[in-house]
Amino acid sequence: MASIYIETFGCQMNEADSQYIADRAGAAGYSVADRAEDANVVVLNTCTVREGAERRAYGRMGHFKSLKSADPALKLVVTGCLAEQDRDRMARLAPHVDAIFGTKELMQLGDALVGWREGFAESALSEERALIMPLGGAADCVTDAFSSLRGYVTVQRGCSYYCTFCIVPHVRGRFDHRPVHEILAEVRQRVDEGAREIMLVGQTVNAYRDPAGEADFGELCKEVARIAGLERLAFISPHPKDFTKEMLRQLSEIPQLNPRVHLPMQSASDPILRRMNRKYTRAQFHDRVQWIREYFPRAAITTDVLVGFPGETDQDFQETLDYVGTGVFANAYMFIYSRRRGTPAAHWDQVDPGVVSQRFARLADVQNAVTRSYHDRAIGREVRALIQGISRKDRSKLAAKTLDNVTLIAPLPSDYDERLYAREPWLDVRIEAAHVWGCSGSIVRRAERFADGGVTLERRLINLLTA
Ligand code: SF4
Repeated sequence: MASIYIETFGCQMNEADSQYIADRAGAAGYSVADRAEDANVVVLNTCTVREGAERRAYGRMGHFKSLKSADPALKLVVTGCLAEQDRDRMARLAPHVDAIFGTKELMQLGDALVGWREGFAESALSEERALIMPLGGAADCVTDAFSSLRGYVTVQRGCSYYCTFCIVPHVRGRFDHRPVHEILAEVRQRVDEGAREIMLVGQTVNAYRDPAGEADFGELCKEVARIAGLERLAFISPHPKDFTKEMLRQLSEIPQLNPRVHLPMQSASDPILRRMNRKYTRAQFHDRVQWIREYFPRAAITTDVLVGFPGETDQDFQETLDYVGTGVFANAYMFIYSRRRGTPAAHWDQVDPGVVSQRFARLADVQNAVTRSYHDRAIGREVRALIQGISRKDRSKLAAKTLDNVTLIAPLPSDYDERLYAREPWLDVRIEAAHVWGCSGSIVRRAERFADGGVTLERRLINLLTA
């Protein structure tokens, strides 16, 4: 049987696109391989939002060159934002890549998979591939048996906000909202296929507007929540400017909504927010925090912070540090500003890299302490989480995500079987230790459905012994 291996970098938009590629591949008769060495087609779904992501993508292309040399029948495909931005350069730098598809060419990628399928039907994979040693590097995400448990549904493509540091509008274009009926149909399909959690994704997801009607993001979510069988609902990534009190009120009435709101701040300094073209002030951002507290008193608020944006002074940085130090964010994705070709900020005077590193370390110290104390509060509790699969750092452990997006790690249960745990993917984990990256503990129960009581693992083992 022909097989496909998909590596994904970057944001959930790319994960949604990878899910589409996996669907098209499945419909064309491919199975999903969890190692590139076992696949006829290798897809790299790339990101270009930071220089590091770009370097990693080219590194992975270099890595797969050895596989391609050992087996010229392998098809190496690159898609995603870097493919969109760098098409000509990529063709020059990585001539062993068979096909490059931009972010708006996923249908063509799906069609190409159908076309290649026949050629793979008869051919066996070259045995020389097994001799290739891994060269290191890893994707953010690899499509596997657990991927379909989280259904990523794109509600809008592109972004019209043009933050001065961001490459997204330049590679993905302006807002292009999908009609409500299309979104609902895709959610229904994902739920029918076994998705336990639906993640609505868009670059500024709460700016959503139904092109054929009046529905905004709050109304869309209420419609989605009415779909029979939907267990959990989440969304990423909203823009602070687009939250209204009315929208938050509507969202708070959705029982399946996960208790986590991601609110990307970037900076707490007004001059920097203005130069970033973020369209809100620190005070307006803080209003959104208060509204979220009012309507979701138990939700985790998480954020993104950018350090070293061009023109950031010590005073600007201190304002961000002070705001983060109030402990408002359960977690934060902290980044050093990365100069992106084609964006306005790339042409402005840059902050000294040594200064930026020091600021970043100070910010990380402050936020990590807050995050660690947020995780500390879970010690001793049993928490329900959706399985992610075998931990990438320790193959003897399972990884899962809680509803508030905390990573849990627990030893593999003695009855672990991939198919069984994909069928019964909700894990109740007793939290025993807290870390900055998440929590660790032991799995005490697993359940097929979020609302189920679940099966206690010890009891099951006793039943088996006494049967
Ligand atoms: S809102 Fe700003 S940071 Fe977010 S995708 Fe649009 S331009 Fe980029």
